[in-house]
Amino acid sequence: MKDIIIIGAGTAGLTAAIYARRAGKDVLVYEGETYGGQILPTPEIENFPGFKRISGYEFATAIYEQAIELGASFEYDQVTSISGSFEEGFTVKSEFSENQARTIILASGARNRHLNLPLEEKFLGRGISYCATCDGAFFKGKTVAVNGGGNTAFEDAIYLSNLCSKVYLIHRRDGFRAEQALVEKAKNIPNIEFLTNRTVSSLNGTTQLESIILESTIGEPASELVIDGLFVAIGQTPSSDYLNGFVNIDAAGYIVAGEDCKTSVDGVFAAGDGRTKALRQLTTAASDGAISAVNACALL
Ligand code: NAP
Repeated sequence: MKDIIIIGAGTAGLTAAIYARRAGKDVLVYEGETYGGQILPTPEIENFPGFKRISGYEFATAIYEQAIELGASFEYDQVTSISGSFEEGFTVKSEFSENQARTIILASGARNRHLNLPLEEKFLGRGISYCATCDGAFFKGKTVAVNGGGNTAFEDAIYLSNLCSKVYLIHRRDGFRAEQALVEKAKNIPNIEFLTNRTVSSLNGTTQLESIILESTIGEPASELVIDGLFVAIGQTPSSDYLNGFVNIDAAGYIVAGEDCKTSVDGVFAAGDGRTKALRQLTTAASDGAISAVNACALL
């Protein structure tokens, strides 16, 4: 039986692994995709203390290598269920394995929110993308749009402005969630055009995305925008389906836990973007990772 099983190898999970290994605990990290989580495709991080500028890939790889060097084990498999108790031990089942642990840290984060429009799945990889750094190069010299008003949308638009001839930034309001510094930077880039107070209401094309219909949120007429690519950056939804009521989650799917990262089940902690919290940032994900690991170690 492991001391701690961590679900998710994003910033929170990897930080938890580093703290737990440094405390001498036997740690297994489950990851369903690749290490790094949501920060991996981010072109530039400029708000993590100690780095003026670092790519998401470099940042994630550095924490991953630190966790590996300290002796954390990794299982690349999708967790399908967790059961048990602190008294009897927990069982984590995944598609291809089963492991036991005395404590659990849920750091499964969140996944990209979709527009939920007809043809969205069909055009995935044919004009629709959720990752500018992964797919931006396919749109070199072309016209694209980014949908969203948060940090991701602005970082994507800025990144794409270096590759594409034209970038439209579509947002449903005229105020932005993104940091002021990013908004100012984007406003000063000549090939970025803001289309605010608009939502994407339909996707058009035969085999490939060819245009989108923009609906006004302030009563103006709808319009068609001809584009080669649409980057959807409208936030995330927590990845908590696999928990199936094992711990309390809120109506939006976030795992209910306070700043001590303790969930409704003794011995189970929640860390990172999947936890109920006010500020979802790299810094707070790292903070959760540390707190959850220290609290798990205190129980052991
Ligand atoms: P976000 O901050 O949640 O922003 C999502 C944006 O999409 C909001 O502007 C929202 O509009 C819009 N939106 C949501 N649902 C929509 C829908 N159905 N249709 C149209 N628009 C919709 O998401 P994010 O930008 O991906 O960022 C996620 C978290 O990661 C944030 O905490 C962010 O600060 C953090 N992040 C940090 C960094 C960094 O530190 N460098 C980089 C990227 C992301 P409203 O504003 O109207 O709600």
